Amino acid sequence: MKFWFITGSQFLYGEETLKQVEEDSKKIVDGLKLPFPVEYKLTVKKESEIERIVREANYDDECAGIITFCHTFSPSKMWINGLAILQKPWLHFHTQFNETIPNEAIDMDYMNLHQSAHGDREHGFIGARLRVPRAVVAGHWKDPKVQEKIAQWQRAAVGAMFSRSLKIVRFGDNMREVAVTEGDKIEAQLRLGWQVNTFAVGDLVECMNAVADGEIDALMKEYAELYDYDKADEETIRYQAREEIAIERILVREGAKAFSNTFEDLHGMRQLPGLATQHLMHKGYGFGAEGDWKTAGMTAVVKAMYPEGYTSFMEDYTYDYQRELILGSHMLEVCPSIAEGRPRIEVHPLGIGGKEPPARIVFEGRAGEAKALSLIDIGGRMRLISQDVKCEKPFQSMPNLPVARTMWRPAPSFLEGLECWIIAGGAHHTVLSYDISDETVRDFARIMGIELVVIDKDTTKEKLERDLMVGDIIYGR
Ligand code: MN
Repeated sequence: MKFWFITGSQFLYGEETLKQVEEDSKKIVDGLKLPFPVEYKLTVKKESEIERIVREANYDDECAGIITFCHTFSPSKMWINGLAILQKPWLHFHTQFNETIPNEAIDMDYMNLHQSAHGDREHGFIGARLRVPRAVVAGHWKDPKVQEKIAQWQRAAVGAMFSRSLKIVRFGDNMREVAVTEGDKIEAQLRLGWQVNTFAVGDLVECMNAVADGEIDALMKEYAELYDYDKADEETIRYQAREEIAIERILVREGAKAFSNTFEDLHGMRQLPGLATQHLMHKGYGFGAEGDWKTAGMTAVVKAMYPEGYTSFMEDYTYDYQRELILGSHMLEVCPSIAEGRPRIEVHPLGIGGKEPPARIVFEGRAGEAKALSLIDIGGRMRLISQDVKCEKPFQSMPNLPVARTMWRPAPSFLEGLECWIIAGGAHHTVLSYDISDETVRDFARIMGIELVVIDKDTTKEKLERDLMVGDIIYGR
């Protein structure tokens, strides 16, 4: 994915100024060190150029968004038709070529050229007037802190573009009687672009039976490079490899990047996919257990934003009130991308589902600042809840807990954090991400047009309840 840099100007200042605008714009683009490339496209001078470049951006599959900047004044009425049809994420970069005001060099020619201080205000007005969602970043383009803000928006834009073409495969329905994993799949497709469809477990089993021994051998080699395990467990692990290969085959066939399954619908399978699911998540696929396609989709989106990052499907398991910690885990499916140290494959009984003891990857999660994200269908709309959490190395070994585990303390404080989460309606399933920033979460929600509820160090229950009421006014209830 790449981003298009479009500079705003007009014909008023003459050829020479326009040439300088173009040269400066190219220097700015060359000076941006960002996770995704930026390409200088055009200095636009008239309405037809703007409309054409926006149309091209809309239709270019590799274009993840446009960055605009008005080096000179660029009257905004000529931007209306273009911005009205813009379908890509937009960042208005309020920068200026020179960092300081020169004493001797400043004259009226200089003023005509370096006038983003007012040219960008005209540009900002039309964004506000049209209510086109956009991110605004101000500051000198060489400043690394300013560039970091653009980088965070880029992540959101890439996630948004990924989201709009995301397909999610569901093996089986949601877990019986569970409410929070339900949701309006049409709303999800309208807002987020997700195509959520069901595929028969019987077909998956058929696909599993067709997996060749050689394919399993190859995947076993990959497991051995990444994880430790006992020779005695090899047959059980080979069965997970068979499941993984078959699941991925269907995902590839369908062009899907996320999936869900449920322990209530494993007809014809000997084990609930544990290791299989964990390793697929590690490769970048999104996953949600118990039919939770919403968390599967969000996991995939965050992984697309940070391909080398630390992101997992997660579940709040149990509390330690004295140490003020949440133990997070799942019955199997935690992504080893968040592991501290080398993970281990183990085989243990599951206790529910009535299947053979499955192989799973066991590890401790890493320490660090993170966010727990939950996407819920609150009725008529999707709500994304984002809570700041601080992960800690688990303070005890818990030798009889045979699953990957992590511990964290939610913001603003342990108990108030729990209260806020419950008030907002956050699910027990989340996406735990060590990478995603406040800026990126906000940018993503704005681009997708979904409600965002943030729970951070500044949140109080009173403020949160007011936010939720405001959300009901904006989106209806
Ligand atoms: Mn669960």
